[in-house]
Amino acid sequence: MYKPTIGLEIHAELKTNSKMFCSCKNDPNERRPNVNICEVCTAQPGTLPVANEEAVKKVIKTGMALDCKIATESKFDRKNYFYPDIPKGYQISQYDQPMCGKGYLKIGNKKIGITRIHLEEDTGSSLHPEGTDYSLVNFNRAGVPLMELVTEPDITSGKEASDFAKELQLIFRYLGVSDADMEKGLMRVEVNISVSKTKTFGTKVEIKNLNSFKVVEKAIDFEITRQTELLESGGVVLQETRGWNDKKEITFSQREKESAHDYRYFPEPDLPPLHFEKEYLQVIQAEIPELPAKKRARFKREYDLEEAQIEMFVAQKDLSEYFEKTASEAGNEKVYGLIANYLITDVKGLLGNTEFVEEKFKITPENFAEFIAMIYQSEINSKTAKMLLLEMFNTGGDPSQIVEANNWGQMKDDGALEKVIAEVIAKNPKPVADYKAGNKNSLQFLAGQVMKETRGTANPTTVQEILKKLL
Ligand code: ADP
Ligand code: ZN
Ligand code: MG
Repeated sequence: MYKPTIGLEIHAELKTNSKMFCSCKNDPNERRPNVNICEVCTAQPGTLPVANEEAVKKVIKTGMALDCKIATESKFDRKNYFYPDIPKGYQISQYDQPMCGKGYLKIGNKKIGITRIHLEEDTGSSLHPEGTDYSLVNFNRAGVPLMELVTEPDITSGKEASDFAKELQLIFRYLGVSDADMEKGLMRVEVNISVSKTKTFGTKVEIKNLNSFKVVEKAIDFEITRQTELLESGGVVLQETRGWNDKKEITFSQREKESAHDYRYFPEPDLPPLHFEKEYLQVIQAEIPELPAKKRARFKREYDLEEAQIEMFVAQKDLSEYFEKTASEAGNEKVYGLIANYLITDVKGLLGNTEFVEEKFKITPENFAEFIAMIYQSEINSKTAKMLLLEMFNTGGDPSQIVEANNWGQMKDDGALEKVIAEVIAKNPKPVADYKAGNKNSLQFLAGQVMKETRGTANPTTVQEILKKLL
């Protein structure tokens, strides 16, 4: 049996106001070409880089969140290669002294090792207009701070790789270091895959330009099969870079890898080395918020929600904060599940495709908690609850006032409801006789008539009880 071995190289554009080595705006949403550029990021002679401290902090913060060993001494290096979209003819990166060393991220119960995290600058982007004999270069992205994370070859399937990448994306977002959108290229995943029957790893193939988690998973699984079949039929795996054809769902050879590329790395002479004091690191450490893994455990412990509900809340910070405020207002652990259900199903349904943003949501946690209490105490039935929620959603009104104004209150187990039921019995002699003759369906019919008479405001269970009593 051939066993797959997978390691990932993940790049994320950092969320900073300005670029890595100049004061140009770092704006991934800028559509006009060559707007956010200056002498530095277009490499005019005589210009000098100045490191962006915010970017440095964000890489350290990420390293801390992933239990990496944080360097006390770090430096930048030049990685030399020619490409039209790297104007200097080299990229400022980090070679032998990355800011973050070994760490790990747990996926389920398995620790996936992280080899290193370093800081570099992004390249510009080249455009090759179809049907023309020229290319265009856009330097808006040139010099944008880019974090690179490399994993150990600890991953063994496409699913595990995409789970790892998803969890990492979540962590980047919790930390606020990157928006990490795969579609926008803010987070890019490169995979290295080999298969082997023995303890010695096989020849690895690299797949680039995978722009979604699904594609990461599919490309890896395809490649595992391809390499296995190739070896089983007596072939050899070539060390190469492959791309992904989304239409055919196959990988294809892009270029064979020069076994040792010579980037002629050397220390960047225009930037001083970095030295991090203990106190400086402590300040960054203190800024790290509760991370997804901790939050999952806490939501299980404090609210005992279902796993799928917990995942929804872990993925949606605003919604989960609102849930916690409402739960605290409710102050009754028996309704936590109910709050979660209404938020995830009904509120999400009302929101449609728009994301939950608390400032734009009209219902206060206090009113939402009151709404839930009314359901829990059977003051309103589920049908009324839907009408009430819609009204609160649209107007932000107080639930008890809305119920009173519309006369939506559930008929209590009192004389009024009993009177209605007695009338229904009197008006329907045939179903009553049928029920007494043993036809259970007739009771449902009578209950239906009562609900109709009370415009759905009666509690169905109470109706059944009184009906049985009077019959
Ligand atoms: P390179 O020098 O080609 O960039 P590295 O040793 O830096 O290779 O590793 C790059 C990535 O490939 C890392 O994520 C690493 O875990 C992974 N990797 C290394 N060897 C293998 C292998 N034989 N099979 C699969 N992945 C590997
Ligand atoms: Zn610039
Ligand atoms: Mg490498």
